[in-house]
Amino acid sequence: MSSGSETPGLVCAHHHLYSTLARGMPAPPRVPHDFASILELVWWRLDRALDLEMIRWSAMLGALEALERGTTAIVDHHASPNAIEGSLDVIAEACQAVGVRSSCCYEVTDRNGATGMRAGLAENERFLKSGGKGFVGAHACFTLSEASLEAVAGLASDLGAGVHIHVCEGNLDDGAGARLESLARDNWLLAHCVHLDRPLRGTIAHNPRSNMNNAVGYARPARWHNTVALGSDGIGADMLEEFRIAYARHREDDVTATPLSAWSWLEGGYALVPEARTDTVTWSYEPLDPWHLAFTPGVRPLEVVVDGEVVLRDGLPTRVDPLEVRTRAREQAARLFALL
Ligand SMILES: [Zn+2]
Repeated sequence: MSSGSETPGLVCAHHHLYSTLARGMPAPPRVPHDFASILELVWWRLDRALDLEMIRWSAMLGALEALERGTTAIVDHHASPNAIEGSLDVIAEACQAVGVRSSCCYEVTDRNGATGMRAGLAENERFLKSGGKGFVGAHACFTLSEASLEAVAGLASDLGAGVHIHVCEGNLDDGAGARLESLARDNWLLAHCVHLDRPLRGTIAHNPRSNMNNAVGYARPARWHNTVALGSDGIGADMLEEFRIAYARHREDDVTATPLSAWSWLEGGYALVPEARTDTVTWSYEPLDPWHLAFTPGVRPLEVVVDGEVVLRDGLPTRVDPLEVRTRAREQAARLFALL
């Protein structure tokens, strides 16, 4: 919190940069009627069609949109079953090119067979061993056998990394609490925890807008003692807006809730990317008090400094041409949509 017009850089604690091109995609063959069919008809159709060039420009646009909203660190969770090897380098390079920090992982899952599972595991290992920052990624317990889940936890333990995994996002993952109870560690990142039935070790990434979008219910993150951070789950990286939605949902559930809780969740992102605390965002509004920001629309960054370098000046990125990024992203979106 700050009383002036500056804050540290904001953190998006759970993103899917590969979904940035999804806006405007062709409608699914039939209307999804629950969370499982949303995954099958929308997201799993999309991720299977991705190649490395689409991933690059999807990540470039996502990173640009993050920077334009004062978000200097993205904790990404990636899936592209037909372009796995090297995909995490492409995402990390895109974030670096724009000037935002990244933490990457590849989602290990059994939904594309044993070969796909092993390739996902290998991409996490390759990326982290080559010095990349991030987690070992896992989709969710309901698409992982016991052996696959243990392989994920084992690799993370061997590499001294945490696991970034979806937990109880919808009812179809209700068994996750019991399966993760003995595996989860303090350095794990648990996305959603909407239907979680017991405490687990790790940081919780709360994604209030996405949870509404998928009609999975309210996660009630205030019920846990864990550190809570805010994520977008792939719907942009406007973390001030996510804070405002987090507050509104908290208040809807508990009329005594104040914006200070949602603000503390926004600051929970520094547990994941501490370096973002050293970044500086100068905003168009002051004071940057949670009680003001929860009720003030349109607050925008004027200048952003990451690692000592001005990467946004007068609201415009300094490292990339935003028009070119948007043009290239639109070209890749057209290629992608033609495959769906
Ligand atoms: Zn997610």
